[in-house]
Amino acid sequence: MSDLTQTDEIALAKLEPILLRAKVETPVVTSFGTIPERAVLLVRAEDRDGAVGWGEVFGNFPMHGAENRAHLIRDYIAPVALAETWHSPAAAFAAMTRKTHIMTLQSGEPGSFAQAIAGVDIALWDLAARKAGAPLWRFFGGKRDAVPTYASGLNPSGFEDIVARKLAEGYNAFKIKIGFGREVDFAALTTMREMIGERALMTDVNQGWDLATAKDNWAPYSDFGLRWIEEPLPADRPISEWQALAAQPGSPIAAGENLLGDAQFDAHIEANVFGVVQPDMCKWGGFTKTLPLAKRIVAAGLTYCPHFLAGPIGVMSAAHCLAVAGGDGVLEIDANANPIRERLTGGLPGIENGIMSLPEAPGLGVEPDTAQLKEFAVN
Ligand SMILES: [Mg+2]
Repeated sequence: MSDLTQTDEIALAKLEPILLRAKVETPVVTSFGTIPERAVLLVRAEDRDGAVGWGEVFGNFPMHGAENRAHLIRDYIAPVALAETWHSPAAAFAAMTRKTHIMTLQSGEPGSFAQAIAGVDIALWDLAARKAGAPLWRFFGGKRDAVPTYASGLNPSGFEDIVARKLAEGYNAFKIKIGFGREVDFAALTTMREMIGERALMTDVNQGWDLATAKDNWAPYSDFGLRWIEEPLPADRPISEWQALAAQPGSPIAAGENLLGDAQFDAHIEANVFGVVQPDMCKWGGFTKTLPLAKRIVAAGLTYCPHFLAGPIGVMSAAHCLAVAGGDGVLEIDANANPIRERLTGGLPGIENGIMSLPEAPGLGVEPDTAQLKEFAVN
């Protein structure tokens, strides 16, 4: 299958959010705040034949946002998804979006609804591909069964043990958080270069600079040989600011995890301001919107790199999407400890020379373990 308009019919019997949480010893530290606990919000879709599909909803931030998204699915989105028989998950996506539109305005929460719908969409595509007996990358007409990866989410200090471990595991590209002032940032970048040599190094400012600061910083930071500098500006700064920054010599700009909707992405693609575009398919769009967007990114000569930093269902969704979209993008894999990512599905596929091979099993190719679901469940 290479288009998104027709699959076997889907008639759902059940659609439920499943919220998991895990304590971690070391919080994830970003320039906007810390993430002291790991939340993973799954979606389980079961059709009337008993086939099951899994999705994941963005749930990193704020701390208890995942609870809210779980309620949105249960109270407002599941009734729409259960009401009809669908000729494709894309048709369900369109109906869920249309029928919750006024609610998003009334609640002032278009993002929360978009995240919840994205996770449901992923579950429906997993279900459709499983029923067809094909791994999702092949179901979507993809040719690649492996994707390059990078170890992501490194804190600005205390990362040495993690980097050493990830090097030993086979990773050969790394991303570290910056935006904590030059003294802290340069110390971290210097140590990283000492540890990883010429391997690819990326950075993430997490929207922490203004234009003047970003312009001042661009050359000296780029001198560390950075493959990209991510979200140097707040995501809602006007295109003219991104153009001014993109005109600076040095590393390419990466961004996209905090854009929402085709129009926002297409405006930035057309302006050619990002070298690397990073939609998060669990935050907006699922496969229905992200896969065509990823193909537009690659067709525009830009790099598509999926953004994602939570549980294994979301990681594998991004991996399949990247495999189908093609291009020279890399899969983001959180390097921080997260027992849910590590244990829920028996671990992600291994990395060899930076490459992850995708499973041959149908759909996403991973299955949450019932005992682990119980262990991490939030009641
Ligand atoms: Mg980021």
